[in-house]
Amino acid sequence: MSRFAQRAIRARKLASQHTAAAPSLEFFAALSDLQSKNASPDAYARLTPQPPPEEWLSRVMEELQPSPPEYAPSPNLCPQCGSPPQAGILRPQGDGHALYLACALCRHEWAFSRKICPNCESENISFATAESLPGYQTLTCDACKVYLHLLEEVKLPGCIPEADEIAAQPLDVWALENGYHKLTPNLVGI
Ligand SMILES: [Zn+2]
Ligand SMILES: [Zn+2]
Repeated sequence: MSRFAQRAIRARKLASQHTAAAPSLEFFAALSDLQSKNASPDAYARLTPQPPPEEWLSRVMEELQPSPPEYAPSPNLCPQCGSPPQAGILRPQGDGHALYLACALCRHEWAFSRKICPNCESENISFATAESLPGYQTLTCDACKVYLHLLEEVKLPGCIPEADEIAAQPLDVWALENGYHKLTPNLVGI
């Protein structure tokens, strides 16, 4: 099964559990279905009521065939394709967690420091949680005002970062209201 078919299934499952994010997750599932069938650009454009931005459409097409970076990317960018992360994944290691960043484009994961901002490398970072979202933490940076959702893999069995990240909308609302912006907006536009 392709990564797109897998994430369509995951997004529909999450939609049944997360009321607030359900419309976004259903949209993501429909998009992923088309990608799994290698649909034409016209088909993607029909998903949205208005013609989608060129940038969105090219990202959707690029996901099907990510190209390697032209130069060695910095540690906060994907070593396989040079894209920024969509989310972070926390995996148990020793007494705590190790952080991996999940690429917004090719889904590659790479290890990254837990102590610094994955955008500007400042140590001025904090973590927010929501009672309605066990297994989620939102990293915010007060130096560059960026945020990124972190997913605790053991608490989110079957987690697919690019789909599970969309379910965290209550934390998106909190972060946006507090003046942060997402490091990489997702394909739902949040
Ligand atoms: Zn990548
Ligand atoms: Zn920062």
